[in-house]
Amino acid sequence: MPDNYPSPVRFKNLPLEQAAHLIVTAGEPAFRAKQVIKWVYQKRVDNFEGMKNISGVTREKLARLFAIDKLEVAVVHPSPRGDAVKFGFGLRDGSYIIESVLLLDGDRRTACLSSQLGCALGCTFCETGKLGLVRNLTQEEIIGQLIGIDDYCAAAGERPVTNIVFMGMGEALSNFEAFRASLAIIMHEECFNIGGRRITVSTAGVIPSIERLMREDLNIGLAISLNAYSNERRSAVMPINKKYPIEALTAIAARYFRSTGRRVTFEYIVIPGETDTDEAAQSLRRLLGSLTCKINLIPLNPTDGAAVPPSHAEMVRFAEALHRLGLLATVRTSRGRDIGGACGQLTAHEYTRAHAATAL
Ligand code: SAH
Ligand code: SF4
Repeated sequence: MPDNYPSPVRFKNLPLEQAAHLIVTAGEPAFRAKQVIKWVYQKRVDNFEGMKNISGVTREKLARLFAIDKLEVAVVHPSPRGDAVKFGFGLRDGSYIIESVLLLDGDRRTACLSSQLGCALGCTFCETGKLGLVRNLTQEEIIGQLIGIDDYCAAAGERPVTNIVFMGMGEALSNFEAFRASLAIIMHEECFNIGGRRITVSTAGVIPSIERLMREDLNIGLAISLNAYSNERRSAVMPINKKYPIEALTAIAARYFRSTGRRVTFEYIVIPGETDTDEAAQSLRRLLGSLTCKINLIPLNPTDGAAVPPSHAEMVRFAEALHRLGLLATVRTSRGRDIGGACGQLTAHEYTRAHAATAL
């Protein structure tokens, strides 16, 4: 093992090529790396003894080189409605728990993953933002959420995760390296084999990272959190708007469509009487009418008890107003709201171990 790797190396923090290289450097044939990668990511074992097609001596050697233990599953909370499961995973280095959500919809099994512990961008309506950025999650912690969710699916007799959305805690595009490295594993056919068409990253609009994403040519879906219909209003609730205003977002969305062929989704939180007015609809038409894009209406999930969420009928009424103006708008049913697992409900105090213990 080279000196610059502390031993044992955390296997799931390595890019696949690097993991393979270390296994070969340790004197193993190249096919051994493939075997180990499949055991870790497809069969999701957490110890080398489970690797039945590898000899005992080699297993012992590998166990000295690599750590492959899993994230601790601290909370599993299925929704009484049966359409969502909220998970809390314990981090190894501290008292925090990160959250992920499994959404069940027909044959689709969507994992909503977190990319950061907290978030630096400080959107006023978002509980994660109130925590500030504690730290980025590592590749292992991002992939670990998916492993934990697939383990749950297997135990529940469910099919494994089919789709991924980066819409949990944090701004994935502000943690680009770990996000990109995780995607490589999520998409690899010998790992999770989930294609770009079934992956979406949501961003508050970190333009340089969107440009980088385009250069990487991954063909994943892009969702931009617009959430307001004027720069003045957006800057008041999303501070990042002062750096990357709405015109910059629409311009990059047009480029994203041209370069990937994928229409960008603009997420838009509906706050009754505030963001669903005639003025709002007209402004959205001016901003988005000439773009090939989609608007996804999200009901406000109240984070402070003061605001009231829209009814489904109010959501539909606004979607129809947008349709009449020639805009393509869909209404997101807020799965997981009954278990505190819907957008913007991921709070700081909820993710401390002390709290999780009492919540169990
Ligand atoms: N940081 C990324 C992804 C995480 S937030 C982003 O901002 O896009 C995922 C989605 O939840 C975003 O569209 C965000 O606008 C939305 N969201 C945050 N707080 C919310 C709330 N209180 N009610 C409804 N949606 C919320
Ligand atoms: Fe961060 Fe997204 Fe929440 Fe804004 S909405 S604070 S970018 S997680």
